[in-house]
Amino acid sequence: MSDDDPHMSSDDASSGQDPQGHVPDLMDRLVSLCKQRGFVFQSSEIYGGLGSVYDYGPLGVELKRNLREAWWREMVTSREDVEGLETGILMNPEVWVASGHVAGFTDPLVECRNCHRRFREDHLSEEQPDAERGEWQCPVCGVTGEFTEPRQFNLMFRTFMGPVEDEGSVAYLRPETAQGTYVNFRNVQESARQKIPFGVAQTGRSFRNEITPGNFIFRTREFEQMEMQYFVEPGTDDEWLATWRERRMEWLVGLGIREDRLRLHRHGPEELAHYAKEAWDIQYRFPFGWQEFEGIHNRTDFDLASHQEHSGKKLEYFDHEKQERYLPYVIETAIGLDRLFLVVLADAYAEEEVEGDTRTVLRLKPSLAPITAAVFPLVKKDGMPEIAHAIADDLRGRFAVFYDESGSIGRRYRRQDEAGTPFCITVDGQTSEDDTVTVRDRDTLEQVRVPISGLAKHLAAAMGGE
Ligand code: ATP
Repeated sequence: MSDDDPHMSSDDASSGQDPQGHVPDLMDRLVSLCKQRGFVFQSSEIYGGLGSVYDYGPLGVELKRNLREAWWREMVTSREDVEGLETGILMNPEVWVASGHVAGFTDPLVECRNCHRRFREDHLSEEQPDAERGEWQCPVCGVTGEFTEPRQFNLMFRTFMGPVEDEGSVAYLRPETAQGTYVNFRNVQESARQKIPFGVAQTGRSFRNEITPGNFIFRTREFEQMEMQYFVEPGTDDEWLATWRERRMEWLVGLGIREDRLRLHRHGPEELAHYAKEAWDIQYRFPFGWQEFEGIHNRTDFDLASHQEHSGKKLEYFDHEKQERYLPYVIETAIGLDRLFLVVLADAYAEEEVEGDTRTVLRLKPSLAPITAAVFPLVKKDGMPEIAHAIADDLRGRFAVFYDESGSIGRRYRRQDEAGTPFCITVDGQTSEDDTVTVRDRDTLEQVRVPISGLAKHLAAAMGGE
């Protein structure tokens, strides 16, 4: 295909789709693209990997950082009523007793007596809804009717603090960031002099010893969460839950995620966590079906009340206007950064036939793309590399820029399409005559001539109009 044609459009053709509306075998293609292009690698790969832990490569860290920053801007910097916080992964173990995690953060496990693999009972019952437990087929060895009674398995990772490894030195790797926020409720409220309603947001690593991790980075044992706890007066909680549900949906749509692949799911009584009065999931239509990637929960005063009781320290809020003391209710929004990363990639991935050739393209929102603009000399002579280097150096610092002079121009464009780079700037023969370059748009494939002096403005306009 000749990508040098300035008026090429991407509408020519598109490839077939799976029943979820995705490119066929999308997960396999994503895993392979992520490795090849340096988005995501398997952890400790040269040693055969480690069950369900992943590393983020040069492009992956940028996409992840852009997503985290977009969330932080939306939830913290752009709001007067939300403060940021960062708490430790290790906390006093009493925190996890009070939160209910030591006693109740468990999944029911069943074991196949034939192959001795363990599975989550709720997953098997979802996958084989028409059969009783006694009739379930083992997904690994295929034997039917050999599952044990369910046993509760705690998902928290345990470790030891200090030199002695005994029960007295047990510590847990946090399974969520929320508890760090609750135990700091008074610290934040008093130091930031916030009045209710207000929120506290944090991002950070969480750990869960998941029994059946899988689907690439969808369910892993180490992951990053972005959680916000919004403290409200009891009685106003239903309204605030609705408000945050709406805001969160709007933000996801604003990230460019297709609306027909997003939906809200309200938890039924059997799904509700012990702390929740009402809970909603935002689900995405992954290639493997509709799955949660963000939760919006009304946690009532469960956590603050429990920490108040276990710690013996008052966690009430004093409302000066009403001269009243009360424990606030909490509306929580909790999203997994890695899961959001997968949503964004799955949603952006496309394969298109353009003039008889197939191109793979990540249609990422420009502000999320790991590289904003790639700069190329058309050929490695006639002073073009020098001009291209100067342009790249000038734009670097304000934009994420990448310089490339190797391979044909068509191949260089193709590599940037796979990386999701929205703009490719090419220095060609005309540049030395009139100081203009071509700027190619990743999605429309259109190329326009722009003066070098107007490049920063051109990129900023395209990035800012979002
Ligand atoms: P699930 O039902 O999938 O186990 P959950 O309901 O336990 O998730 P929450 O405790 O509400 O999840 O956590 C909030 C968010 O954290 C989830 O929506 C998800 O995006 C993310 N998350 C939870 N567990 C994992 C995991 N093992 N790997 C990656 N992300 C996770």
